[in-house]
Amino acid sequence: MKKYVYMFSEGNEMMRDTLGGKGANLASMVNLGLPVPQGFTVTTQACNAYYDSGKVIDDDIKSQIEDCLERLEKLSGKELGGTDNPLLVSVRSGAKFSMPGMMDTILNLGLNDVTVEIIAEKAGNKRFAYDSYRRFIQMYSDVVCEVDKEKFEHILTTLKNSKGYESDLDVTAEDFEKELIPAYKDLFKAEMGMDFPQDAKVQLMGSILAVFRSWNNDRAMIYRNLNNIPHDLGTAVNVQQMVFGNMGDSSGTGVLFTRNAANGDNHIYGEYLINAQGEDVVAGIRTPQKIDRLEEDMPEIYAQLVKIVKGLETHYRDMQDIEFTVEEGTLYILQTRNGKRTGSAALKIAVDLVHEGLINKHTALTRLEAEQISQLLHPNFTKEALASATSIVEGLPASPGAGCGKAYLSADKVHEMKLAGEKVLLVRHETSPEDIQGMVSCEGILTSTGGMTSHAAVVARGMGKCCIVGAKALSIDYAAGTFTIDGVTYPEGTEMSVDGTTGKAYMGTLAVEESELTGDFAELMSWADEIKQLAVRANADSPKDAEAAIKFGAEGIGLCRTEHMFFEGDRIEYVRQMILADTLEERIEALDELYKFQVEDFKGIYRAMVGLPVTVRLLDPPLHEFLPHTDEEYLAVAEKLGKTLEEVKLKGATLHEANPMLGHRGSRLAVTYPEIYNMQVRAIIDAAIDVSRELGIDIIPEIMIPLIGTEAEIVFVKGNVVEAIEAAKRVKDSTIGYKIGTMIEIPRAALTADAIAKHAEFFSFGTNDLTQMTYGYSRDDIGSFLPDYLSTGILPVDPFVSIDQSGVGQLIEMAAAKGRSVKPKIKLGICGEHGGDPESIKFCHKVGLSYVSCSPYRVLIARLAAAQAAAEEIILEHATDSVLVSDK
Ligand code: ADP
Ligand code: MG
Ligand code: MG
Repeated sequence: MKKYVYMFSEGNEMMRDTLGGKGANLASMVNLGLPVPQGFTVTTQACNAYYDSGKVIDDDIKSQIEDCLERLEKLSGKELGGTDNPLLVSVRSGAKFSMPGMMDTILNLGLNDVTVEIIAEKAGNKRFAYDSYRRFIQMYSDVVCEVDKEKFEHILTTLKNSKGYESDLDVTAEDFEKELIPAYKDLFKAEMGMDFPQDAKVQLMGSILAVFRSWNNDRAMIYRNLNNIPHDLGTAVNVQQMVFGNMGDSSGTGVLFTRNAANGDNHIYGEYLINAQGEDVVAGIRTPQKIDRLEEDMPEIYAQLVKIVKGLETHYRDMQDIEFTVEEGTLYILQTRNGKRTGSAALKIAVDLVHEGLINKHTALTRLEAEQISQLLHPNFTKEALASATSIVEGLPASPGAGCGKAYLSADKVHEMKLAGEKVLLVRHETSPEDIQGMVSCEGILTSTGGMTSHAAVVARGMGKCCIVGAKALSIDYAAGTFTIDGVTYPEGTEMSVDGTTGKAYMGTLAVEESELTGDFAELMSWADEIKQLAVRANADSPKDAEAAIKFGAEGIGLCRTEHMFFEGDRIEYVRQMILADTLEERIEALDELYKFQVEDFKGIYRAMVGLPVTVRLLDPPLHEFLPHTDEEYLAVAEKLGKTLEEVKLKGATLHEANPMLGHRGSRLAVTYPEIYNMQVRAIIDAAIDVSRELGIDIIPEIMIPLIGTEAEIVFVKGNVVEAIEAAKRVKDSTIGYKIGTMIEIPRAALTADAIAKHAEFFSFGTNDLTQMTYGYSRDDIGSFLPDYLSTGILPVDPFVSIDQSGVGQLIEMAAAKGRSVKPKIKLGICGEHGGDPESIKFCHKVGLSYVSCSPYRVLIARLAAAQAAAEEIILEHATDSVLVSDK
């Protein structure tokens, strides 16, 4: 027979899956001999069985509950619903991962018209008994019968007002007995068409089922979505003997953290209330006292509490969040769990615990969420500022950080105002490559469309600039120079604040604080570098990016996108000239000009990277992205080419494609116009030769051919590239080495990776395109249906944010294996946006790639995530050493 119910003494802290976090820890505390009220736990499997059988509880589970209830009655010497010595219990939810306040708890169960009198007499405290009863009626009605608790609160408030009471504490036993409880019961009857249940066993079973149901209430579902907690885990239910913090002035209840959850200081921090029960402390009915005051109010209890909570912290080897109650001078611990904390607290606590000898470095590395360290890197709005501000529009938190300034609607205007000394924000429907200057100049970006991989999002993250995308409630009238939110229209120049960490935007300017990288941070990162196996490179397109990458500890450049250099300054004119040229000569003339720019850029990058590997990708995007938009722009090119406006516009029109992402781009350009790659290769090699000589080091450029789909294609393109390289070497009389590799980003390339590997010294998985082509989802159009796919659960996560391990991941694993079968030592890397996503990085570790490459500002996150992947593996190998396994 399957066991569905465990006495606390039968469980242990490893049984979180079965007993839930709360139940497992209650069991563990009972076994440690701590003062914990006894009880039993109905398992998460019972909850799932309840759902599986169409929301009914089967007889077997019921009878196991009754058995455990009997055992609890024996232990306590009390009887549920009994008239000699009535047992009162709480019914508490508790899932594997703590979801504070998301599900329901019922206290004082077992009270009815008879037992309330007996309790009152035994306690010699009538007020306490009736106070407990009214609380029970309210909680039971709310949780089990879904009668709005506001209706009960209303009755209480009316009574307090009519008697001129200020606090709940002023309500007398008389008031409770004669007025409030009858009114509560009347309300119940009016709402439910029956009397409030007096049978304690009925109360108990009703409450257990209600907790099962609460697993799927709205706020629990939303919480799980936000925290990536699976919906099929189910909740356990804990039935526990009550202890009472509401028995008078020698009683009370409180919550505490063993360390400061905001900054990590090793100092107990919490709140309590005298003569109170349950959620009174957090409900804000009365203002609680700081925990330090307890030392004065109840010195012995305080000393005992400190000893216990520090002991729990040592036992769990992590900061604890603890609930306690004092009943007439006796202390009880009601809950302990690993406390939630901010990024900076997580960092300090992890490092401190290593220094205190409680955890090892591997465990410390798993104690931070890799994403959390981005909170430590970007400036943020102060807590005080956020507390008093109301956001006016919300979108996706595309790139963390805080930015304030005057909102302008075009990149040009943003740049102009920046030059005029203003702080500015760029507010647009979306951004495009041409907006780059405005994106550089602004303090933050806000767009009304687009997803997490939209242009604005990717570029902003690349720059480490705060950015919100897809703020749907925002509409923009470019012509009028205004934008509208919730029916209110604002002119350009309105001051706003953008919080890229939360996705919320505000009117006005909020206070900002710079992040400080403390010694703890450096120490933790040194541990990360010791243990990680993946190298972390950066995607960097300019010397400035390369410097940032080095600052954050990048071990090379995994992706240098040459086309990003094409938009700067007046280079675009030469690019346009190249595109709109009719003859080879015209094109080469323009390319020769571009060569001069590119060679300088590459030199700057090589200098910044001083010998670290640099992978340069040859031109990748469709040419029409660079086309002029206005007649004026066309005219400028026409003049340069000595043609008419009509001629160049006609040529431009021929370049338009129905589906440019699948069109004339990448290596396909090099098949039609070999001279483009020839120029780029010449610039790459010349710069490498020059800087090698200048710095006296060996630079070995890695040249990457994009968008390869067939073996013949790479053979053809590589042939031209090698010829151009050798020509450049001859001119400079150099024997410089180089590597040629390819992107694997077309599914066909992954499928035929063994053939392609014959011609490539490295593969770099371009997972943005690979995801796009594997799913057949256009990256740029996904915004219109992705939200529906996520909300219906068809997609668990945005596959452009976190790699789809079973589909796209399978292609990567296959291509890696096929590549290695031909070239065992082939270098394998990943350079899509996924290279900075912790879950995807863990996948790359598992597949055994050599490196991941991500934007410079995510390099720290990637280093930590790579270390976590390695640490988790080591911890799993030592899983018998249970205490080293972290909470989540
Ligand atoms: P949550 O998961 O929302 O924190 P809990 O199950 O911890 O809910 O219950 C909320 C509060 O109810 C606890 O903090 C505690 O103060 C009170 N409580 C629960 N069980 C008991 C009990 N057996 N005796 C006294 N108070 C209890
Ligand atoms: Mg709790
Ligand atoms: Mg690509």
